[in-house]
Amino acid sequence: MKLRVPAIVLAVHPVGEADLIAVLLTAEHGKLRVAARSARRSKRRFAGGLGAGAVGDAELTARAAGLWRFEEFAPRHDHAALGRDLTRFAYVAYLCELTDTLLAEHHPEPALFAALARGIARTLAKPADPRVLRSFELALLGELGHLPAFDTCCVCGTALGPVDVAFDVARGGALCPAHGRGCSALPAVVRHAAIELRAGEMPELDTSVRRRLRELTQAAITPLLPRPLRSVSFFAQLAALPREAGDGSAPGGQPGRGGGH
Ligand SMILES: [Zn+2]
Repeated sequence: MKLRVPAIVLAVHPVGEADLIAVLLTAEHGKLRVAARSARRSKRRFAGGLGAGAVGDAELTARAAGLWRFEEFAPRHDHAALGRDLTRFAYVAYLCELTDTLLAEHHPEPALFAALARGIARTLAKPADPRVLRSFELALLGELGHLPAFDTCCVCGTALGPVDVAFDVARGGALCPAHGRGCSALPAVVRHAAIELRAGEMPELDTSVRRRLRELTQAAITPLLPRPLRSVSFFAQLAALPREAGDGSAPGGQPGRGGGH
């Protein structure tokens, strides 16, 4: 059965001389590993080539057994901006690798598909913005059922007002005074920013809030990863460049470097 679906390329693995296996995220079928015959030779079927972060329409042949066939891909965006900007390239690589690493195959996640497409489109259109990374990380944690509690105590469910409260990612997030005794506090402004980002808003964030948010999402994500992400070591290399290519807001980046955002 042939189908044409919106898809995001999460990863591409060359096989032999001309074939490749691609990992796609689709809204309807979730994450799929698909086999593309002669993809690296066909400029007609795979115009512009295939790279992680490409968003477009994929023509697939569904098969009862084995990998689905990846027949054709028509990109919707021009990815030239990524070739000119290492930081934005690293952002898209990170979003895709994180998704590929944490999602199981064949579980449709339409909201996550939309969130990833939005994050990539934003990164293509504008200078690298760490809020895009945080927003997507929170969306992904939400879909996976690992989003920390932000507005209620994660133990007893008590609603928490706009005050600094105890917070422990490992225990599940925010804690009321009774359950959070001895835990370090998270500023209310950070908790509020996380809630806004999760809702798809782009609040103004100062450097310390950005750093706390990055630490928070990384603390939630790192235990879920079976291995360190390659794209994160790329961020570290960017941060080590003499020019201020890294902004310190990337996962694994060094706080206090750069600061263009
Ligand atoms: Zn409580």
